[in-house]
Formats: sequence, C-alpha cells, structure tokens
Amino acid sequence: MVELALPQNSKIKRGQRFEAPEGAQSIKTFKIYRYDPDSDENPRWDSYDVDTSACGPMVLDVLIHIKNTIDPTLTFRRSCREGICGSCAMNIGGRNTLACTKGWDECGSTVTVSPLPHMDVVKDLVPDLTHFYAQYASIEPWLHTSTPTPKTEWKQSPEDREKLDGLYECILCACCTTSCPSYWWNQERYLGPAALLQAYRWLADSRDEATGDRLDMLEDPFKLYRCHTIMNCAQVCPKGLNPAKAIGQIKEMMLERAV
Ligand code: SF4
Ligand code: SF4
Repeated sequence: MVELALPQNSKIKRGQRFEAPEGAQSIKTFKIYRYDPDSDENPRWDSYDVDTSACGPMVLDVLIHIKNTIDPTLTFRRSCREGICGSCAMNIGGRNTLACTKGWDECGSTVTVSPLPHMDVVKDLVPDLTHFYAQYASIEPWLHTSTPTPKTEWKQSPEDREKLDGLYECILCACCTTSCPSYWWNQERYLGPAALLQAYRWLADSRDEATGDRLDMLEDPFKLYRCHTIMNCAQVCPKGLNPAKAIGQIKEMMLERAV
C-alpha cells in the first residue's frame, strides 16, 4: 500500500495556531489544509488544539466543533454522518477515508486533514468532483434494454441478484479514485476505479442488454487498461469494496469476447 503523501507544496506555508481553551481536558492537535483559490493567498496548514472531551467520537465531529466554536471559515462537505452519502471523503492521517466514520482516537496526537489528493480544490477540504462525476455519467449508469418493458417489473433470480453484491454498495465517495496513482497521472483519460466498478455493476446485471456496447466503450488503451493492479483502491474503500477485482472482471470479459 502506498501511503498517500500530504500535499507537499513548497508554497504551503505555516498557518495560524488556535490554542485550546483554558481548562481543556483532553487536547489533540488537528493540522488542517486551508486554501481559497479565489484569494491571492497560498495554501497553508492551520493548527487547532481541540478539547476532544467536548466533541463526538469522529473526525467529522471535530471538524463541526471547530467550525461552530473556533473558526467558522473552515469549509468542508458533509451530509449524512453515517457513511452513506460519501460527502465527507477526505485525506486523514495520509489515508483517504470518510471523516464521519474515522474515529479521532484511531489517529495519533496530531491529526493531519487535507482534501482528497490530486484534485482541484474548491475551498479548504472541498475537492472539485466535476470531472469524477462526468466520468461516472460516461459509463451510462442505468439499465439499457431493447426488449419491450414488462408490465410489472424486470425480474432477476436471487442468484443473479447476488452477482451485484460488492458493487451496488458503492457510494461514489471518490476515496478509491483519488488514491490511485494511475489516476493521478492520467485522470483526463483513465476512468479510475470508482467509474470502472460502476461500469462492471451494469455489465454484471443479468437484466442489462447492452453488454457489447458497454465493452466497446471501455475498449480503449486509457479508459480501462491504465489499471496496473496497485490495489490502493481496495485498501482505502470505506465500504470494503474491491474496485481492482471489478476491473479485473471487465478485462476477463474483454478477453472472453475476443476468443
Ligand atoms: S488496482 Fe488499478 S484502479 Fe486500483 S489503485 Fe491500482 S491502478 Fe488504480
Ligand atoms: S468503490 Fe468504495 S472508495 Fe470507491 S467510490 Fe465506491 S465506495 Fe468510494
């Protein structure tokens, strides 16, 4: 597993330090990446000494505590707080994960928090996922059929339904894609692990009737074949999924149709 380097940019300067209030009982330092592309300022690391006895157990609880009580300018995305929406994906302690399911007591005495790596930054911990979502849309993530729509529903046997386990649970958090070295270097042309896992989700669906078209779309030196089985994607997925395995299964389908 390649541990992800923090954004090492010589222009990242030391930022402000926010000290814990007097009487704080249990202090942990959160070193947080700050950047506003609309300002003339370079990125910086701000340090917040937080009294964790005043916070809930997760890193997201600490970020909310900082925003509510210490520094309202800190910007991050969050929604469900239950590992379902994927909004609070970020890099914590050098590893992509969800802030809402990462406990601060799993981290050392100083916790570094930065946006998902190798993406443009909208502000602070918010990455620009426009291209990521466009790549997801490009795999046409919906059922394609040519036979007439049945009166009630498209049926599927329990065995065929089981083939979607390990695929349908993806929450599109982008932890995998932004941990993939191949994606870092080729993100304009390589679809990356999340979009490819989703592509396989439809290839594996017994009800879908566009397998040939879907494989044609992926038959490209960059879209699929930039995966070199480095496996970062499977290591970081907060839902325990294995995009590398799904990519391997697409490659097998390519081989099978070639013989
Ligand atoms: S296994 Fe493939 S998709 Fe996953 S991190 Fe490695 S190169 Fe990227
Ligand atoms: S495969 Fe896992 S890490 Fe990748 S987008 Fe889906 S849930 Fe997130």
